[in-house]
Amino acid sequence: MKPGLLIHTCSRFFSARQIKGALRLGDAVIPGDKTLPSFSETEFIHHIDRMLEYMESDDRDGLGLLMNVFSITPIWKIRLLVSLCDIHRFLPQFLGTPFRLLNLGLKGIIFTLYYSGLEDKEGHGARILKTIGWDAHTPSYQPLDKAMSENRQISAADIGKKAKDVSQEIRALSVAQRLKFVSQLKHLIVSEKEIIIERIQEDTNKSRSDALVSEIFGVLDHLAFLESEAIKALKDEKVKTPIALLGKSSKIYYEALGTILIISPWNYPFYQAIVPIMAAFVAGNSVIYKPSEFTPLTGLVEDLMSRIGMKDGWVQVVYGDGKVGSSLIDQVPNKIFFTGSVATVKKIMTQAANNLIPVELELGGKDPSIVFADANLDRAASGVVWGALTNCGQSCTSVERIYVQDTCYEEFKNKTLNIVKQIKQSRDYDGDADIGGMTTKAQIAIVKNHLDDALAKGAKLLSGDEWDGQDAMIPPLLFDNVTDDMLVAHEETFGPTIVLLKFSDEHEVISRANDSIYGLSASVWSADKARCDRVARALEVGNVSINNVMLTEGNHHLPFGGVKQSGIGRYKGVHGLRSFCNIKSVLIDANSKKIEANWFPYTKKKYQLFSAMTEALFTGGILNFIKFAIKGTLLESAAQKSRNQSK
Ligand code: NAD
Repeated sequence: MKPGLLIHTCSRFFSARQIKGALRLGDAVIPGDKTLPSFSETEFIHHIDRMLEYMESDDRDGLGLLMNVFSITPIWKIRLLVSLCDIHRFLPQFLGTPFRLLNLGLKGIIFTLYYSGLEDKEGHGARILKTIGWDAHTPSYQPLDKAMSENRQISAADIGKKAKDVSQEIRALSVAQRLKFVSQLKHLIVSEKEIIIERIQEDTNKSRSDALVSEIFGVLDHLAFLESEAIKALKDEKVKTPIALLGKSSKIYYEALGTILIISPWNYPFYQAIVPIMAAFVAGNSVIYKPSEFTPLTGLVEDLMSRIGMKDGWVQVVYGDGKVGSSLIDQVPNKIFFTGSVATVKKIMTQAANNLIPVELELGGKDPSIVFADANLDRAASGVVWGALTNCGQSCTSVERIYVQDTCYEEFKNKTLNIVKQIKQSRDYDGDADIGGMTTKAQIAIVKNHLDDALAKGAKLLSGDEWDGQDAMIPPLLFDNVTDDMLVAHEETFGPTIVLLKFSDEHEVISRANDSIYGLSASVWSADKARCDRVARALEVGNVSINNVMLTEGNHHLPFGGVKQSGIGRYKGVHGLRSFCNIKSVLIDANSKKIEANWFPYTKKKYQLFSAMTEALFTGGILNFIKFAIKGTLLESAAQKSRNQSK
């Protein structure tokens, strides 16, 4: 076995040890030669779940047992066993049959994995999967079903209880101790990024580069942010204590809330899992994580968490649909971190309101890009095309409408069309495709509806008219002649659309951009820095990139979130990390005999002194300051006297 290669893979059915056993068996059956790589030199073991999925659970358990044995058996003994199985050729049939079946079974497993993997590289494997109904539109139906039935054995109440029980263990760790898990996870993801990318691609249909750039890089960047900033952000903070509270001091403690329920969408399943999970954990919380039923990445998060040494219950992954999510809210977590659609969040907020559970919401958007005529048009065109098409347009901060100044509209349109014509689309294996396809059938239907609506209202399609309205590989749809009343201009499409709209002046474009129920992100393109700044301030959104696109998310020191129906609260950055905390205010005084001036008993004299002191303190100036000091001292002594008299 090639050293260091794939000792672990992420399987929902087999443990790391069983995978190790399977790799040993694989190398005994296919040791490799000059023309063929050995079994473990390939990455095909990673497809094991596809095969195990279709086995009876008894057979799977038996196989698992055998693999456990192989994991501790020296490879020469496994080779001996494999060759012994061949003795059926020399035995009479009635004696040889058991050996023949064993031979067939063991080699069958290995050859199936090896050759289906090879075929996959050529794209045949994917086609076979499609014919058996495991196609791009329902990439995870089967695995999810199984994972959900495993889930059902544990009730939501047990999950909630476990999360609460272990939360004290996490809280007791220092931030530095929690960060050790973060560092380990970072290294693990770096070393297994290609395997993780394949898992992401399987569930989402996205291009390999999209998975690398937006999911893997983004996650690693956030983990690096936590490593460098969390200790500072979460340590006790001393704040000023005003003169009226002389002699006291004030502090803020950033403490854990308890249990965080994270509910995620399907568009960035790895990023939307790891970023909030690790931020919530570093802030000292236990986590219940419910991925989208469409992109569960079944087994992956648990596998990573257990391999970095997270204890049982610290991060629990619960598979299922909205009903499962709702049953988890019933367990009254200390906070819900939700990323998803406006329609869903209305139900979630209603349910959360029953128990006053705080919510942090990252919702949809209809993000505008505003291109002024003085911008570098080549750069702006490349930027907005990327912003509109990255992840096949399935990003909350996708560029969904592009306002182009009328004086450069035609030139900009031609540049955009040229770039769009060169876009390469496929679910590739080498990183050479620009975009992949759509993840869910429901979203394909929304894109189709928006397309039909735009065409019916007079829009022109400059690219993508070859799309049949159903295929998940929707080509880039470039729209011209768009009006504000079209769905593509004001509702979230969440697909590969490039929607061009004309504007004439700054005032007009700001008001059209703001005329939306959403307020997530925007981008502004112009050579005039003052104008960029003016427009950025005037836009009703949570994030603005100037002469760039979707880049505020690229800096994990910046908080991220929306206004209006795009969200509540912020995540990422120091603000985001602290949003998983109970921000506790502490005021410290000495253990003296002194009675505070504002405590009982109230007297007429105290009232007059307090009133004069208030006037002096808030009027300002040096004479008033002296007056404040005198009145304050008199008030202090009046307070002590009145207290002593009332004893
Ligand atoms: P969705 O709202 O349909 O589902 C999101 C999650 O909520 C899923 O896990 C789903 O199972 C769960 N859910 C559904 N009903 C529930 C209920 N009653 N109780 C508890 N959980 C429930 O969203 P989606 O289609 O998966 O994702 C697409 C949406 O997410 C888009 O609107 C997109 O803009 C938004 N999004 C926002 C951000 C952001 O950071 N602002 C990031 C990514 C996606």
